[in-house]
Amino acid sequence: MPHSIPGIHHVTAIAGDPQQNLDFYTGILGLRLVKLTINFDDPGTYHLYYGNENGTPGTILTFFPWPGAPRGRHGTGQATVVSFAIPAGSVKFWVERLQASQIRVDGPFPRFDEQVLAFADPDGLQLELIETATGFEPWRQGPVPAEHAIRGFHSVTLTEPGCESTAAFLTGGMGFGKAGEASNRFRYSTGAGSTIDLLSAPELRRGMVAVGTVHHVAWRTPDDAEQRAWQHELATRGHDVTAVRDRKYFHSIYFNEPGGVLFEIATDPPGLTVDEPLDELGRRLMLPPWLEPQRTRIEGALPRLKLPLAG
Ligand code: ZN
Repeated sequence: MPHSIPGIHHVTAIAGDPQQNLDFYTGILGLRLVKLTINFDDPGTYHLYYGNENGTPGTILTFFPWPGAPRGRHGTGQATVVSFAIPAGSVKFWVERLQASQIRVDGPFPRFDEQVLAFADPDGLQLELIETATGFEPWRQGPVPAEHAIRGFHSVTLTEPGCESTAAFLTGGMGFGKAGEASNRFRYSTGAGSTIDLLSAPELRRGMVAVGTVHHVAWRTPDDAEQRAWQHELATRGHDVTAVRDRKYFHSIYFNEPGGVLFEIATDPPGLTVDEPLDELGRRLMLPPWLEPQRTRIEGALPRLKLPLAG
């Protein structure tokens, strides 16, 4: 039996234009571009990683930009909201910052005794900033003062036609316990700082993955042995779990949770500094060794990007 999940590793979503995505997450939200690479399964597509200074698991939001692709549909069987932690007392700063960039902000409003700001990224991906006492180290060299900067993920919200089967899955081995309930929102937490909200929405249609939607949610595991234990455990419980895939910065297995959201379990090691030093993360296009011989062709086919100056 594997150990319980220590928390979110990363969240991966689909963007439209890569430059617009880069400018929003680094320039407005103040995250660090911690890796510039490609989708290993689709080398014609960038894979952009944003996070804190070290790109610590628990802070990493990644995007596959699909320029010109249609927007997806928010609905059930989907992670519909990505919520970041901000320090207590920072909501006012963020309202002003987002509004100064002509971003429509909903809130602040209270939820389970925390202050929440809701808004969307340029592709319609729903985001929240939530004041909370805990969090990761921020990126201190970005455009947002460190005292207000994003401190990793607060939680993700999964929208489900009904929450029972997903709730049973989270509590029956993943190590989550019920942490709150308000209207159709059911909160689960690992106690180690990882929170997942389930929204019961039987009236909604099923979501469709395309621009502006989350592709999958990845959970942390400390090493390969623990990951194999998860793979065995999931298969034993009847889940269709993939073979281990080498994502260079971590090793991954994938499966669908009972409500239909694609989950990944990713190892903490080797991490984002496996192929470039910490102070140079995100400055050049990194390719895995098996695609390096094709660098000229791959670079030539990707849209040009203007990278952030800071860092
Ligand atoms: Zn992933």
